[in-house]
Amino acid sequence: APGAHLIGLIGAGIGPSLSPALHEREAAALGMRYQYRRLDLLELGLGPDRIGDLLAAARLTGYTGLNVTHPVKQSVIAHLDALSEEAAVLGAVNTVLFKGGKAVGYNTDASGFARSAMGGLAGAPLDRVVLLGAGGAGAAVAHALLGIGAGRVRVLDLDEDRSARLVDALGAHFGRDRISAGPAAGLEAAVADADGIVHATPTGMAEHPGTAVPPALLRPDLWVADVVYFPLETELLAAARAAGCRVLDGGRMAVYQAVDSFRLFTGAEPDADRMLRHFDAL
Ligand code: NAD
Repeated sequence: APGAHLIGLIGAGIGPSLSPALHEREAAALGMRYQYRRLDLLELGLGPDRIGDLLAAARLTGYTGLNVTHPVKQSVIAHLDALSEEAAVLGAVNTVLFKGGKAVGYNTDASGFARSAMGGLAGAPLDRVVLLGAGGAGAAVAHALLGIGAGRVRVLDLDEDRSARLVDALGAHFGRDRISAGPAAGLEAAVADADGIVHATPTGMAEHPGTAVPPALLRPDLWVADVVYFPLETELLAAARAAGCRVLDGGRMAVYQAVDSFRLFTGAEPDADRMLRHFDAL
């Protein structure tokens, strides 16, 4: 029925996700009938290789669309009919919309980080940015940074093949002089002449404590953004604040990614500030 939406979130171990509450509360505030269900691969006893079956089931049973997260953001692509430009360049999808008999993939992590940075880092220099982590989140951040006008992005990852692949894909799209890869061991040298750092590895989450950026590298003229948002105040951000850096936490990226997915699912404009307040209250 028009105005009624059924949405699913597919991933492994998604119990703690705030997305269901964030989406459903916003829909309620807009007077919509909207159900957002977790389809947890672990709970369902399904391997990541069953993503195609799950997608087909959701399509057949009337889902409006899906959010897709670890570990199926890349593998879902093989089962889709079309991709947005961002999702195609990134090779990763976090939002699937079923429309007109087609399943179309989008990436709102990228647009979410872009909006977060434009607000939370407004006016900050973006000539040279160091990005730590070239996984799903790092790829979205790199696309967003280049899209909002970062001069040069240097991508460092322990997995050098991964950063090289990302640099290749984004360099072809945005210009090869604007993005480069280096070994994770090159962090100190890269940070020395950087305007800011974006951290996009899982370090700093409860199950991966610590910080991937030694606090000794932080200085007051450096801005520091973290994509980790469980917890919001990571060890890295606490150290950056103590060093006098301008900081941006991962919360706004998470909310704006939901804002952009909600708009794709419903065609209605959610109230981003209200969703930020919901997130803060969760
Ligand atoms: P991922 O596993 O796909 O990628 C992480 C990458 O970091 C890997 O390539 C790994 O080799 C690299 N890495 C790990 N430790 C490193 C180190 N010390 N130095 C350099 N590289 C290192 O993970 P992901 O899906 O990209 O998620 C990363 C984090 O981002 C998670 O904490 C996730 O919760 C968070 N995230 C946040 C948002 C948001 O909206 N704020 C969105 C997506 C993901």
